[in-house]
Amino acid sequence: MRASLNSKILMVVLIVVVLITAGLSTLFYRAERSEVLATAYENARDVGRTTEGALTAAMRSRSPDLVGQVVEGVEKSSKVLEVTIFDAVGKPAFTTGLLPIGELGAETLGDRRPRGMVTTDADDPAYIAFTPIEISPACFACHEQSDPIAGVIRVSVSLRDDYDVLRGHRDRFVLQTVVLTAALVVALWVMLSRTVVRPLKIFARRARQIAQGDLTQRVDFPQEDEIGDLAISFNAMTSELTGRIGDLEEVKDRLETSMHRVAEALSSALDIDSIMHVMIGEAIGVGKFVAGAVVLDDGTSFAVDPASLPRGGDASSEDGADSRPSDVESALRQVSSLMTGVGAARVLYRSADVGLEAVGLPERYETAILLSMASEGELVGHLMLVAEGHVELTQPDRRALEFLAVQGARAVAHTRLHELAREMAITDGLTGLFDHRHFYEALGSEVVRAARYGLSLSLVLLDVDYFKKYNDRVGHRGGDQVLRRLGEILREHARGTDFVARYGGEEFAAILPHTTHREAVAFADRLREVVQKEPFFEGEGQPGGRLTISLGVSTRPEHGGSAEELVEAADRAMYLAKARGRNRTVSADETGAGTVAGGPGGPADGT
Ligand code: GH3
Ligand code: MG
Ligand code: MG
Repeated sequence: MRASLNSKILMVVLIVVVLITAGLSTLFYRAERSEVLATAYENARDVGRTTEGALTAAMRSRSPDLVGQVVEGVEKSSKVLEVTIFDAVGKPAFTTGLLPIGELGAETLGDRRPRGMVTTDADDPAYIAFTPIEISPACFACHEQSDPIAGVIRVSVSLRDDYDVLRGHRDRFVLQTVVLTAALVVALWVMLSRTVVRPLKIFARRARQIAQGDLTQRVDFPQEDEIGDLAISFNAMTSELTGRIGDLEEVKDRLETSMHRVAEALSSALDIDSIMHVMIGEAIGVGKFVAGAVVLDDGTSFAVDPASLPRGGDASSEDGADSRPSDVESALRQVSSLMTGVGAARVLYRSADVGLEAVGLPERYETAILLSMASEGELVGHLMLVAEGHVELTQPDRRALEFLAVQGARAVAHTRLHELAREMAITDGLTGLFDHRHFYEALGSEVVRAARYGLSLSLVLLDVDYFKKYNDRVGHRGGDQVLRRLGEILREHARGTDFVARYGGEEFAAILPHTTHREAVAFADRLREVVQKEPFFEGEGQPGGRLTISLGVSTRPEHGGSAEELVEAADRAMYLAKARGRNRTVSADETGAGTVAGGPGGPADGT
């Protein structure tokens, strides 16, 4: 059975107060009672002494009859119930009743000391005093020395009135005790309730509210005692709890945002490059990291490293010919080859036993985190994050990082599968590049994306110069060999995000997303140079002593908005290159594309 604290306190207070007040009342009552009895005893003895005096006086006046009158007179005085004079052998000599002398009377006779006792007769309580009779030489004037003249006077004094008074006192004491007890119990109970039970109830209520999620609850007891201390601790605990929950919610929000962004990156059909950058960016955001990089098992790498600035303000780099690897990327390349298997995040500190020095990171990095990226148990690469200070990973941080690494690994595996399937289905059999139809598909979706995000998009079309002559001279199979090699060169020089296609017989195309016209022209001309330096079989038999290509470059939005307009502009530029003597790159700017709707320049035979 559950008893409330209030009722327990009430019980204890009640018992303690009743014991104390009853004890005190008893003590007071006893003291008062003995005082009343002492007075009665004194009265009785006074009566005894007076009687003895009267007796002696009567004897001396030699009128023994007076003694009977003295006794009667004494008896008439108030409160005296009975007076008896006993002689030396205990026989009543003068009495109003014939009561035996009793034990006390006999003792008084024996040693001549006064004695007294209380009779316990409830109807008529009395005090009986025995007073010895003194004998002086004068007595022997009448008495023989052998006469048994000495005796004892017994006087009984009524205690009824005193007992009535005492009874009144007792009743008053009982009443006082009850009232005092009740008052004390109520006062103590109220005090304990206010100082102990009420605070405890408030604590319990606040704790319930906190449990229901209301963390703004505080208790306010200004009292300077243990309850006050408890209130301070309670409030400190609540604040601490608020902080902890805030941290947890922040971690949860961060993880949700990360998941959302990563999921968005995966679902928006972005290329692996963008996915890796989103993943690294999110991983950097998990802790106080400043840079990060991924190296995949096929050797490709991606970095988000503002400190390295590999490409003039663009904080990203990948395997493009125009980028140098970031510090983190280089360091990760060194360690990832040493790491095998899949494990949890590893934290490397400078000056710790796991030598961060050996990794070859710049001095300013104090902490490096290494994560393996695995999908379905298969390792696809490694992720490294670096921080300039000493960073400890919390459990939520670890979980967030491992989540991101797994998502990144899945994205890589997924993209690879996807690409394999696409390549098998849509590529040209001779060169392995996209075929004409898929070139248009890719260009269409890139145009949509460039339009949506306001990004530039460039297109390069190229055609082999005097290829008919080459075929005629070397044979069709030799020509095929040249086309295959050209496909390889194109693939080698294109970025991961570019699309290269075999547009027609000996015509190729490269779609360059997120590339300005200037960058695209530079890329095209670099291709031209590479091709003219390539030692093709019997290339020297071509006009000009080498096998060459002519290229036309157009860019969205300046040379057209649609896929068709871009192709048309690049095509016109390419024909202008042919017209100008071949082995050259021509920008669509030079054909007036986008500004002048002129007709094609028309092919010109340079022979
Ligand atoms: P230019 O482009 O410089 O004006 O001169 P060209 O000789 O290359 O002229 P054109 O573009 O008209 O010739 C295309 C030639 O490319 C025709 C054809 O023999 C050759 N060709 C087209 N497809 C293939 C192919 O798949 N294999 C081989 N070996 N040759 C091809
Ligand atoms: Mg052609
Ligand atoms: Mg040609």
